[in-house]
Amino acid sequence: MKTEIFDLKTEYDKGLETAAKAIADGKLVGFPTETVYGLGADAMNEEAVRSIYLAKGRPSNNPLIVHIYKFEQLDALVSEVPEKAEKLLRVFWPGPFTAVLNKKPEVNDTVSGGLKTVAVRMPAHAMARELIKRSGKLIAAPSANLSGKPSPTTAQHVIDDFMGKIPVILDGGSADVGLESTVCDLRGDVPIVLRPGGVTAEMIRSVAGDVMISPGVLEELKEGEKALSPGMLYKHYSPKAEVFLAMGGEEKELAGRINILYDKCIKEGRKSEIFCMEASRSLYGERNCRLLGKNAEEIAASLFSELRLADERGVEVVLFEGLSTDGIGLAVMNRMIRAAGFKLI
Ligand code: AMP
Ligand code: MG
Repeated sequence: MKTEIFDLKTEYDKGLETAAKAIADGKLVGFPTETVYGLGADAMNEEAVRSIYLAKGRPSNNPLIVHIYKFEQLDALVSEVPEKAEKLLRVFWPGPFTAVLNKKPEVNDTVSGGLKTVAVRMPAHAMARELIKRSGKLIAAPSANLSGKPSPTTAQHVIDDFMGKIPVILDGGSADVGLESTVCDLRGDVPIVLRPGGVTAEMIRSVAGDVMISPGVLEELKEGEKALSPGMLYKHYSPKAEVFLAMGGEEKELAGRINILYDKCIKEGRKSEIFCMEASRSLYGERNCRLLGKNAEEIAASLFSELRLADERGVEVVLFEGLSTDGIGLAVMNRMIRAAGFKLI
């Protein structure tokens, strides 16, 4: 299949028109959002939605997020919007916030992965919104990466995974947030964060008065424990390198644990790198370090592309320096712990 790539800086209208037509025709489009790039299709066209799972190699019981550009479109998808949910959506939409609500029967089981609920988001990204508007459809879109790989934060990442496999990719520059949206169950009185993201638990609490973090966000679910969000069950964000996450303890002591494992891996002849913050660089001496940023926001924005770059450099071991789970740090740690396959040091 020929893949048409449009740089929206220079081919805004042509790109959006071609992509909108592809969506309306039941085809797949890679497009930018403020979180990560999405792989979109007409959400109400079950055949088109099925082709998303196929292209990604995504397990069929891991549901997709449906993207809308205006509030009224929510009515087509969900059977009710509780008062507290509406309050949160009025504050956090458009933005990196996904609502899980009871779905209308018209919403196909393929999009919802067989669940009675559906996940809905209104992105803030102007080009994403324009694509939804021009297509005249609701757009189901997971992250535009092959299942299991780090999520795409640039059009090049989408090209790397889907060139020749989908008809259209829109290039809208680098994703701002760099991590996927906060997925939040808004059916009950207390919002439950199923996957942390750009809208933090603290922000949700400040509007709703309370918030719960689902089990499985920062730890591996035990046998028999039910995943509130199916995505928690799957291997995620993994580069080819073996990844370890250092978590807990005082800064110097944590760095000490990283250094011991790094030195052991180097002795074994494995190409190793430490992913750390600028402020703690000096704790690692002459060892190979990649600086992810000065704060949690910068780390969020660079994490996925750094994992892909590590693969390109042929890195065999990545050692993550864990950070505080305050604010967006919770989302960063949720991704790091999965990239590490729960291997903690
Ligand atoms: P992705 O689009 O690849 O970022 O993944 C979407 C995430 O939202 C996955 O972790 C899904 O498991 C989760 N999700 C989507 N729909 C639902 C739903 N109805 N209930 C719970 N989690 C959902
Ligand atoms: Mg994903």
